[in-house]
Amino acid sequence: MNILKRLVLFAVVLAMATFAVQAGNFDYQLQAQKVAKDTYVFVGKTEDFSFENGGNIVNTGFIVTTAGVIVIDTGPSLRYGKQMKSAIASVTDKSINRVYLTHHHPDHFLGNLAFEGTPIYALSTTAENIKNEGAGFADNLYLMVGDWMRGTDSFQPTKIAKAGRVLLGGHDIEILSYSGHTSGDMAILDNTTGVLFSGDLIFHKRTLTTPHANIDKWLATIDSLNKLPFKVLVPGHGPISRDKTALSGMSSYLRWLDKTLEKAAKKGLSMTETMRLDLPQSFASNSLLKQEFSRSVVHLFPSYESRVFKRVN
Ligand SMILES: [Zn+2]
Repeated sequence: MNILKRLVLFAVVLAMATFAVQAGNFDYQLQAQKVAKDTYVFVGKTEDFSFENGGNIVNTGFIVTTAGVIVIDTGPSLRYGKQMKSAIASVTDKSINRVYLTHHHPDHFLGNLAFEGTPIYALSTTAENIKNEGAGFADNLYLMVGDWMRGTDSFQPTKIAKAGRVLLGGHDIEILSYSGHTSGDMAILDNTTGVLFSGDLIFHKRTLTTPHANIDKWLATIDSLNKLPFKVLVPGHGPISRDKTALSGMSSYLRWLDKTLEKAAKKGLSMTETMRLDLPQSFASNSLLKQEFSRSVVHLFPSYESRVFKRVN
């Protein structure tokens, strides 16, 4: 074996060993990124769930107020929730005042158990959705990310959040109730700092997901978000942004998806044929475009087919 080959082999072995150690410790390596005064985000990967990422594909965050810390979403697992708590404790000695859950998808609430004893707020629809689907989501994530999920259970929110203003520890927080990504989507606008936590109403540079989507409602919600006076946008997935391009990107993809599925259904294409359609270059910079489009066909195409079917009859 020549020296170059040996070096390459050594590098590969080293990389594998490093990965094995990290994965073996089940350490998400959460780093709080400061995005505004008192406001921090743990930015997740723009990937699919895998053992390699332990389900850390999501953005969670927190606001430090003089009355305690407001946590936004708890991540995909009990381990994540616990590690989030210690990462928060490395930033502030304030205790956690409350948790808000943006919606019922598994990467956003399965860390709840780590916050047991703290009020966990969700919209009533979200609480209902967790009751109905939470355990199934947890089982599914165990299959996808394995031991990262140890000890994780679907833990119900303990408080129902209502839309409106909450004045807490020097922060003027607005709880916003929407739908479209799911039947209950909370967004949180901190009027004091201008930070908007959009949950999965906004995906940025990562293709959106549609297992519970209603495209018309989602488009209307994005119009409402557009009117909010935010300065910093924390999307549910993808990088933080300081302008509104993520919103227009979402709207154009949703409109394109709607038109494409409608046309395909009218043409009588099958699901597989629809999945094979060419995807516009303009969306190519969003990660997971092909995969998420195929999934959206599975989620949404039957309803387009049934609409066309009705018209024929
Ligand atoms: Zn979601």
